[in-house]
Amino acid sequence: MLTPQEQEMLGAVLRAERERLLENAKAGLRFSMERERNIGRDSIDESMEEEIFSTELRLRDREKFLLNKINSALERLENGTIDECEECGEKISFKRLMARPVTTLCIDCKEEKEKEEMAKSQILGRGGIDADQIPEQLEEE
Ligand SMILES: [Zn+2]
Repeated sequence: MLTPQEQEMLGAVLRAERERLLENAKAGLRFSMERERNIGRDSIDESMEEEIFSTELRLRDREKFLLNKINSALERLENGTIDECEECGEKISFKRLMARPVTTLCIDCKEEKEKEEMAKSQILGRGGIDADQIPEQLEEE
């Protein structure tokens, strides 16, 4: 169990992160509305605009994903289970939680997972990262 002070610090980090994501999402929404207004104007290179827009959408998917993670971390904080590894049940150190507040794994299980993923991507022969790998990238220490 974390001390009340540690819980408070972690809660503050999570809430600040949520705030930041919501701000980003709002900015993204403004961008889309701007785009709606611009439809029909032929001064814009359409293919370039499409590209910007799809990047924007991908970004928002990632934000949604992170937002979910933050919300469930806040829930775990509330329940007092935030420092329990969901894989092995061992304690996740406060230091690790402060660095990665949304993590659900202790460092041992995380490293284990990373090895698995690396092996997987080697089998598949993937070079670059695709959309659903991005959140995992963010989890790196
Ligand atoms: Zn573990």
